[in-house]
Amino acid sequence: MELKVLSADERHAKVLLSGASPAYANALRRAMIAEVPTLAIEDVIIYENTSPLYDEILAHRLGLVPIRTDLSRLNLREECSCGGEGCPSCTLTLSLEAEGEGMVYSHDLRSPDPELTPLPGIPIVKLREGQRLKLEAEAVLGRGREHAKWQAAVAGYKYYPEIEVLESCTGCGDCVEACPKGIMKLEDGRAVAVNQEACILCRACVQECEENAVQLRASDEKFIFTIESTGALPPLEVLRQACRCISKKAERMIALL
Ligand SMILES: [Zn+2]
Repeated sequence: MELKVLSADERHAKVLLSGASPAYANALRRAMIAEVPTLAIEDVIIYENTSPLYDEILAHRLGLVPIRTDLSRLNLREECSCGGEGCPSCTLTLSLEAEGEGMVYSHDLRSPDPELTPLPGIPIVKLREGQRLKLEAEAVLGRGREHAKWQAAVAGYKYYPEIEVLESCTGCGDCVEACPKGIMKLEDGRAVAVNQEACILCRACVQECEENAVQLRASDEKFIFTIESTGALPPLEVLRQACRCISKKAERMIALL
């Protein structure tokens, strides 16, 4: 099995996985979206709320705010040494105090830890003059399979496209016009595929070619993963943690044998 990072930044990554099966690629995808823990607000203690939103709606909006997570320092509550009562190793307590007029944003939630902070710029509620909000919110680790607020990333994959232009190509340019991704080009009177990885396997080039000269296959042992993180963890960390989740599950199986 081989892994190649095609591109990666703070929020997005493209990774090429070769020498794997569709079943393995799907296990990886599912682990990324459902098994990787992140922080999200679970309990909200509201001291004062004269905003236009009901407490429940406010708590729901707060729950969906992504919070930067460091998995090396945090435990899942049910696995924590405090026995699930809540301690600094499993619970992050944020506080919010605001008074109108103005918009309350996610970055108004104050965190005691500079590395575990809500992602900035997400509007929570708009306050009019004199309206007040005072609350405390407890964030804990959880998994996407329990609630979407804990989902670390949106991850998907496509089969690696393999485009071949046969000798019978007449260079008519129909495939060049048909391709919505601009992958087909004319070179020396023949069609060639450039930047094949961008192909979306729509088969427009195959359908438009009257000579049947364009062959398109999707490899079932090479996969291009697209990972878009919520911002709680970098996308490559989501992939790393997903692999750990699969490995841990396998170890638990071995222990049962
Ligand atoms: Zn604890």
